[in-house]
Amino acid sequence: MKSLKENFQKAHIVIIGSGIIGKFNALELSELGFRITIIDPAEQRNSSNAALGLLMGNIYQKKKGRSWDLRKQSVKLWPKWLKQLQEINNKLNIEKPLIQLTTNEKTFKKLEKFINENNDQSLKVLEKDSIIIENISKTFQTRNIKGIISYKDGRINAGTLLKTLDKYLKNKKINFIDEEIIKIRKSNNQWFSTTKSNKDIKSDMIILCNSLKAVDLIDNLLSHNIKLKPVLGQAIEVGINNVEVNLLTLPKQFNINGKNIIPISKNKLIIGSTDEYCTNPEKNIFEKITNFLDKKPTWLINGQVTKKWFGIRSRPEGEPSPIMKNLGDGLIICTGFYKNGILLAPACSKWVAKEIQNYFA
Ligand SMILES: Cc1cc2nc3c(=O)[nH]c(=O)nc-3n(C[C@H](O)[C@H](O)[C@H](O)COP(=O)(O)OP(=O)(O)OC[C@H]3O[C@@H](n4cnc5c(N)ncnc54)[C@H](O)[C@@H]3O)c2cc1C
Repeated sequence: MKSLKENFQKAHIVIIGSGIIGKFNALELSELGFRITIIDPAEQRNSSNAALGLLMGNIYQKKKGRSWDLRKQSVKLWPKWLKQLQEINNKLNIEKPLIQLTTNEKTFKKLEKFINENNDQSLKVLEKDSIIIENISKTFQTRNIKGIISYKDGRINAGTLLKTLDKYLKNKKINFIDEEIIKIRKSNNQWFSTTKSNKDIKSDMIILCNSLKAVDLIDNLLSHNIKLKPVLGQAIEVGINNVEVNLLTLPKQFNINGKNIIPISKNKLIIGSTDEYCTNPEKNIFEKITNFLDKKPTWLINGQVTKKWFGIRSRPEGEPSPIMKNLGDGLIICTGFYKNGILLAPACSKWVAKEIQNYFA
């Protein structure tokens, strides 16, 4: 009798979409010995490349339900994957901690309650006279800033992560095809993914990791009620010209009143992201994204946008994010990551791998 691993080595799995979710699925499945092909015509322009890479695991306030289970599992899995990926690129790292700040007293009370009710030593309320609060208050010229810190959460550089994953997958001899899939179908026990140039790619299974477009591929194939809406996420890099301000005195990553802030040098920082149900980036992005305090500090008013970028995520309608479903007959959908796709990729690909192992067992 053949071993499971031998069965897996014979099976060919096509992954449509090479964002963080497609790549992580390939990573997980290649470890199990499957033969994998990833297909994507535009992976440099996807939402994964736009991500800021914040990993909001333990700091997430709703500690129950599927979303929490996925976060919890990902928080556990990340260190193992990081160690493995560091063998390819020792610069890849998770910078800790993660800080959440607010100038709203009601929001702060909620954060405080969350910390007090959770007996987690890695989560703390920031003391008013802590060096972190002092430096942030001084730089942002505000007095009523308060917040919490998570010593176990942090940030991974999404661009470096994606490049490292590419190298890892290349070493694992994963096949990449630079094409758009316009149709999928099953015939004689085999799946066929048809490219725009009319080539058919044969496989035993398909995993749909192509975000919004996943629905187009199943519309003519089966009856379903999966609905996805585009959500725009935007970020800017701001250069400042004020010798009295040193942005490197600030924490490595933090959030003030819902905006994520990442200082990258003495005089440059990244600010993101906005959530809008649209697909066109806004013209007045600087005004909108820097408007997170009652009064902007002068250095920020005079700041210059040195880079700006955006990404379109897919948000499920009528059901929680993400959508992870076994559609049967060797077809799996893993999409709808309108946020936290970087954080959740390890747990979601673990779920997919389990479904696939059961299919071939
Ligand atoms: C500005 C911004 C900041 C963000 N910050 C964070 C953060 O700090 N932390 C975090 O965890 N998440 C963050 N996110 C969210 C995160 O980027 C997403 O959750 C994640 O990228 C979703 O990954 P994905 O693989 O599902 O989709 P994508 O990265 O969009 O990949 C889908 C891929 O499918 C391909 N595709 C589509 N149709 C087809 C087809 N027919 N055939 C073949 N290929 C196809 C596309 O070309 C694309 O490459 C942020 C997003 C944005 C925009």
